[in-house]
This record gives sequence, C-alpha cells and structure tokens, in this order.
Amino acid sequence: MVQAPAQRKLVTLIPGDGIGPEVVRSTQAIIEATGAPIDWEEHPAGASIFKQGLSSGVPRETVESARRTGVVLKGPLETPVGFGEKSANVTLRKLFETYANIRPVRELPGVITPYSGRGIDLVVVRENVEDLYAGIEYMQTPGVAECLKLISRKGCEKIVRMGFEFARSEGRHVVHCATKSNIMKFSEGLLKRTFEEIAPEYPDIESHHIIIDNCAHQLVKLPEQFDVIVTTNMNGDIISDLSSALVGGLGFAPSANIGNDVAIFEAVHGSAPKYAGKNVINPTALILTGVMLLRHLGEEEAAEMVEHAVLLTLESGVKTRDIAAGGPSASTTEYTEAILSHLGERSTKWLVREHHPLQLPRVSRDLALVHPRSRHDIGVDVFIESELQPEVLGPSLEAATEGTVLRLETISNRGTQVYPATGGATTDCIDHWPCRFLLRDLTGDLQEGDLLALLQRVSQEHRWVHVERLPVYDGERGFTKAQGED
Ligand code: NAP
Repeated sequence: MVQAPAQRKLVTLIPGDGIGPEVVRSTQAIIEATGAPIDWEEHPAGASIFKQGLSSGVPRETVESARRTGVVLKGPLETPVGFGEKSANVTLRKLFETYANIRPVRELPGVITPYSGRGIDLVVVRENVEDLYAGIEYMQTPGVAECLKLISRKGCEKIVRMGFEFARSEGRHVVHCATKSNIMKFSEGLLKRTFEEIAPEYPDIESHHIIIDNCAHQLVKLPEQFDVIVTTNMNGDIISDLSSALVGGLGFAPSANIGNDVAIFEAVHGSAPKYAGKNVINPTALILTGVMLLRHLGEEEAAEMVEHAVLLTLESGVKTRDIAAGGPSASTTEYTEAILSHLGERSTKWLVREHHPLQLPRVSRDLALVHPRSRHDIGVDVFIESELQPEVLGPSLEAATEGTVLRLETISNRGTQVYPATGGATTDCIDHWPCRFLLRDLTGDLQEGDLLALLQRVSQEHRWVHVERLPVYDGERGFTKAQGED
C-alpha cells in the first residue's frame, strides 16, 4: 500500500540578531535532517527593523506569517539603544497573547555543575502576560512611582491548567504552585486559590503550594524535589533563570511561549553581540527549543531523535567554549555536525521522557466575567499628595467629611497607619498619603454622587492623585488594611 505523504507544516523562522542566525541555522539544519515535514517562512524582526524606523521592531509581514503558521522559531532579538523603547520580543508575546512561558531545566551529560549527578529535571510554567510585566506604570507624585500588578482569574486559570496539562503530557506527577500569597493575598493569592480549586480535576497529579521565596531557597538546596512549578510572571522570570543556572546556564536553556493560536519557540538567552559571527557559541538552547517545537507540531519521533542526538553528543565529550573550562572546544558548526552525526542513535544512559500531546487548556474567547452573588462598596481610598503632617492633614479631612455619609477611617504612609497615631510606629514619611474613607453605615453602598462630592471637598484644600473603591464581594472585603489598621 502506498502511504500518503505526511502533511507538510509551515513554521515562521526569525533568524534574529547577534548570535541568532548562527543558532537558528544550526537548529534548522538538525530539524531538517530528521526528515520532519517542515517548511520555513523566513521573516525579519529586531535590530535591523528598528533601524529602518519601525518602532515595534516587527514588520507586518512577520506578524502575518506568524498568525498564518501559528508556530514561530525565533532567534534572540535586540532592542538597539536609541531606537524606540519597546522590545520586539515583548511585542510578539503580547500580540499573540502567548500566556504561558514553559522552561524545562534538566541535567545534561558532560555539563558539569555543582549539582551534577542529582538528576535535576523540572519545568517552570510561568504566566507570561499579566502581573507587573504588563508594564502599567505611573508617577503618582514626583517622588512616588506605581506599577500595577493586575492578576485576573482568567489568567490564573489558564496558567494553572497549562501547568497540569504540561505535567500530564510529560508523565510528570507533582505540580507546585509558587506564590507570595502570604503578603499579596489578593493578587498572588488569586493564583493560589485558583490552583487549589482546579487541582482536584487532576487527581493523578500531586499538588502543593509553596511560598516563592522558600521555592527559590529549595531550588538551590534540593532542586531535584521539583517536577513542575507554576507561578506568576515576575516570580517565574526569576526562578526560571535561577533554575537554568543550576544545569549549565543560558547555553542550555530552551523555552516556549504558548498561546491559543500562536506558539513562539526561542532560547532564553539574548543576542550575545560580542560573539556574533565568531562561530563559538553554544546552540544547544535553541536546538532543545527545536525539540519542543517538534513536539508541539506532533513530530514526536523527530523530537526524540534530536534529543537523543544532543545527549549522545554531550556524552561523547564534545563541548562548546562556554563549558570547555579553557580546554579544547568545538565551534558552533562542529558541534552541530556532531549532533547531526548522532541522529538516529539512542542514548542508553540518559532518559528521554515519553511524551503525549499537550492538551491546550480550552479557554473561552468570551469576555471573562466573574459575578459575585452580592457586591457593594463601603468606602474609598483617596491618595493625597501633601506636605502637611498627619496630625494636621487628618483633622482637615475629618472636617471635609462632616455631615456627609463618609468618615475618615485612617491615613497611612508607605503602608503603615499614621493617623490616628498608633503609638510606637516610626514611619519615615513621604508626601504621599493614602486616606481611607468609610461609609458611616457599612451595610450601605457608596453612591457615585457621594464619591464625587468627597473628591470635590478634598480637592478644595489638597491634591488627590489616585482613587480606589473599597468593595465587598459576597460579604468578603476586597481590599487590604494598612499595617496598624484595626
Ligand atoms: P545574552 O545575550 O543572553 O548574553 C549574556 C551572556 O550569556 C553572554 O555574554 C555569554 O556569557 C552567555 N551566553 C548567552 N547565550 C549563550 C550561548 N548561546 N552560548 C554560550 N554563552 C551564551 O544577554 P545580554 O548580553 O544581556 O543581552 C544582549 C541582547 O539580547 C540585548 O539587546 C537584550 O535585550 C537581548 N535579549 C533578547 C532576548 C530574546 O530575544 N528573547 C533575551 C534576552 C536578551 P559569557 O560572556 O560569560 O561568555
């Protein structure tokens, strides 16, 4: 029987800047040698595009290609100083809402580190769109900067499900959720709560919550205890870099940015401009990224083939400059040739996991709505820029609320209550005062007119710079207290 030819798959290829083209050509050659039915659409992005005056660093044709193919293999992109302020990498990740950044970290043969022999083999699944990295920043006053850490229930659900699904696809059995929910109860806490809600849907997987600082500590102390770690954007950025350093560093750190429609595969490292064109850098990170890409395309056989060839090459003692410790080293092209020569052989000493297709979490495209059974606002925080001391500012605000539905509850400074004075607190104050006004009747709901009237009264004597409602959802307060506030 004649077999139908395998359907060819299109991948957008972005060679990138600096050492990008060298690692991309190496990876492309190895993928092609597996016989995987892949065709490439090559498009530029990065430094050359910024220099042409396009402030996003990503031309329309590149974006359209990525949208059409749904899969991108990308070299590192540089943001040249003086050409716009947006990173082309971030543009691509945002444009396609690649909400999950997956970074596997495993011990490799011949890559000697203080952890060699301990069998580190973990994956960091990092939320990739929200959190502080949304970059929503304001100077509330000339001396106070604000960066909004917005975490959504939908974003948490997507990343948590991705963590569990990724664990299943690789036959992993333990997922840790790492957050700072002990301090940031609402934002980081939302990931913890969502994780705890969803975990029972995956009874085949053990689930644990861990505080992120302890997670960092444990990663250095006993990294082999971890299998999959799901975490928020900034935590994930830090612990994934930390983790890759445990197994040899940037030359060995692959990554995938996965979205509903487009997945972008790239090494963690940058364009290392000082090595560009010198044929000395280590292409392993992007080659292992290529393994992730092959699996994403369902080309499991080719993926395994490349993984075994990388393991065998490293087992045989071929080393690139970064791990040769001053000894003889292979050039990028020699190292690539060595991998090519091992394609089709299997490592008997080093494990290649059995993989199953990753079930991308099914997420509705509808506007995400969370409807509590009840909700009302019991007050408002008004942040005021003022040179007055709290014992003067306080009475002035009390006077402003006289005869109204609101009363001044407290004034804080840098997170600590300073009015009414708590006694004992030695806050080093600045001219920025969050002032909390509560309804006199806490069963009520703050009306728009009362809020606007308050702002008007306050602004007669003070400059307000920020306002936050104080909501209660289903009887639970949706705001935190200042230190010292009862
Ligand atoms: P980098 O390019 O990652 O290089 C930092 C150092 O890491 C290099 O000097 C080298 O260390 C080592 N290194 C990186 N890749 C290596 C490899 N494949 N093989 C061996 N060693 C490797 O970081 P950077 O210098 O901070 O950033 C340079 C540019 O890349 C910047 O414009 C940055 O914005 C951009 N960048 C892009 C991405 C991306 O596209 N995703 C990511 C990060 C940075 P030694 O000097 O010790 O040999």
